[in-house]
Amino acid sequence: MEKLIDLHIHSTASDGSLSPEDVVAYAKGKGAAAISLTDHDTVEGLEAALSAGKTQGLEVIPGLEISAQHPGGSMHILGYYIDPSDPNLNQELRRLQKARRERNPKIINKLQSLGFPIDYDQVQAIAKGQIGRPHIAQALLKIKAVSSLEEAFQKYLTRGAPAYEEKFRFSPSESISMIIQAGGIPVLAHPFTLNYPSLRDLKRLVEKLKDDGLKGLEVLYPEHSSDQTRDYFSLVKELNLIYTGGSDFHGDLKNNVDLLSGKGDLKIPYCIVEVLKDLRAKGQSQ
Ligand code: AMP
Ligand code: ZN
Ligand code: FE
Ligand code: FE
Repeated sequence: MEKLIDLHIHSTASDGSLSPEDVVAYAKGKGAAAISLTDHDTVEGLEAALSAGKTQGLEVIPGLEISAQHPGGSMHILGYYIDPSDPNLNQELRRLQKARRERNPKIINKLQSLGFPIDYDQVQAIAKGQIGRPHIAQALLKIKAVSSLEEAFQKYLTRGAPAYEEKFRFSPSESISMIIQAGGIPVLAHPFTLNYPSLRDLKRLVEKLKDDGLKGLEVLYPEHSSDQTRDYFSLVKELNLIYTGGSDFHGDLKNNVDLLSGKGDLKIPYCIVEVLKDLRAKGQSQ
């Protein structure tokens, strides 16, 4: 049987619904050959995930997903094999976590002004770790203000919607640097969320990111159409980057996507882990 992996997973340390230990157990139960835990702007779940990986016998790659500045859409940069105890990385992440703490009450205030009876404590009770918009969406769903998480985003929480609030983000090159400095391999997550009008525009941006140290693109992703997947594969080849893949599993905090299989047909081969390990070995010998 082909060895399959999942390199994009969230836990309760950010906006997933399973604890890091439960993510590992769930992945193991599904037959994963390796996973990476990639919580938003935090490494809080990694120690627990790595130790659960050891006790349960599943290869766990330390990872994270940093939200970077990108005015026209959303840019997330994954970092694989980062050192979770790297002091510089942790200092930069504290800045991002502070930005979230400052943003969340503003979103909740806006929703209150729109007439919804939700408060910070309710949202904090839903979030076990740091609060993200999916927890706020869940709070809106709970009071039946919306009938799905997607509706909560479309009507209120997405950029441009009435309860949206900006937060501080590092630039793409700063985000890439903090991953590299912590010993990690930076990979551009789900390129379709950049909202680029054409492949040529995307190529120009990816070339710039490559100059900053980007090593790969997340090509295999549940929301990518077959055309997008083909385009991103060609970009990876052309620019001599690596490809990775992941489901972006969030448990109950994101519907319709399962770990490992995504929307049913996701298949991410184990050979990607070997490529990542090669890159890591090269980086360490430099
Ligand atoms: P935050 O990190 O608080 O800005 O929230 C970002 C997270 O919200 C993303 O990683 C997704 O999990 C989720 N998200 C963003 N846009 C949507 C959407 N349109 N529908 C559902 N979930 C979304
Ligand atoms: Zn998320
Ligand atoms: Fe993302
Ligand atoms: Fe994600």
